[in-house]
Amino acid sequence: MTKSSSAESAIRLRGVRHNNLKNFDLDIPIGQLTVITGLSGSGKSSLAFDTLFAEGQRRYIETFSPYARQFFDRMDKPQVDRIEGIPPAIAIEQRNAVRTTRSTVGTMTELCDYMKLLWPHVAKLRCQKCGQPVRKEPPSMVWDTLNANPARKNAELLITFNLSLSEKLSLKESLDLIARQGYQRLFSDGQILRLDEAIDHPAFRVASSRLTVVQDRLKLAATRPHIWWGVSVENRKHGVPRIRTLSASPARVKFLSIEPLLEDLGPVDLQSIDWAIVGGESGPKARPMRAEWVRSLRDQCDEADVAFFFKQWGGVRKSTTGRELDGRTHDDFPQHSLPPGPDATTRRRLRLAAVPA
Ligand SMILES: [Zn+2]
Repeated sequence: MTKSSSAESAIRLRGVRHNNLKNFDLDIPIGQLTVITGLSGSGKSSLAFDTLFAEGQRRYIETFSPYARQFFDRMDKPQVDRIEGIPPAIAIEQRNAVRTTRSTVGTMTELCDYMKLLWPHVAKLRCQKCGQPVRKEPPSMVWDTLNANPARKNAELLITFNLSLSEKLSLKESLDLIARQGYQRLFSDGQILRLDEAIDHPAFRVASSRLTVVQDRLKLAATRPHIWWGVSVENRKHGVPRIRTLSASPARVKFLSIEPLLEDLGPVDLQSIDWAIVGGESGPKARPMRAEWVRSLRDQCDEADVAFFFKQWGGVRKSTTGRELDGRTHDDFPQHSLPPGPDATTRRRLRLAAVPA
């Protein structure tokens, strides 16, 4: 800690006469290493400990909790006319007053407690393997990152978790338990093993009584021409963030189901969106939808060349409110050049196939 003003960059002692010290004045620079030397009995300790430290400590102690204060020896007030510019003082002697091995200058002064709070705030956590910063990322960013590397096209992803084995269960019992919870595979020694074959497999290892269970397997793939995907966007807080996830998905046709529209969504990123369906809530207790919310979306769709479909105003009796906006209906569909979505039979088959066995 250095201060620019010379008046503040020194500890000024005046009339120092503790023990055998001979009533002298002394300036000690701050921010530098100062060594006091001399013959035995010449007053080094009287100056360093009984005068400088005693006064620094006296003022320093006042900043500590009553708990910490009990660890400091009460020292006599030094015999001196005055001392100015003295910062908080820590003295380390050749003897060790505290007899626990974990006690240090840092723990005694509680500096460590502040350090513990400080380091996590100023530190940036990095991966020990590759050195990349560790960050919390939303799923859409993870998806973007995975897709950014062309070498990963069509790569298979494993989502795994580590499971500590219970000492009370045999390995066989543990595996049965995992299987009963619906998991089918383990990851061991670089291989995916089926749970029922794992025990006898040469690649099966139990490292530090832990297993790596495969939660899910995904395939990173290029755009799927037959897939239409949509997300609901009802408000800013929950709905709008879903658009980013949808944009990053490999679906061929991406649509927003903006119904019921509950508030003005503001500017929406429609860059990779093909279709927006907007509608108001209907039925008893329907929350009303304002025309300017719908117009904002219609205009943004026009601007971004996104097909706009206005479904209904809704309301308590939707048959009376109709589906005209500014004197006309809006019935756009995604561009005809896009492959059509699957027909009803295929859709039902796909739905069935999507249900896990
Ligand atoms: Zn890494």
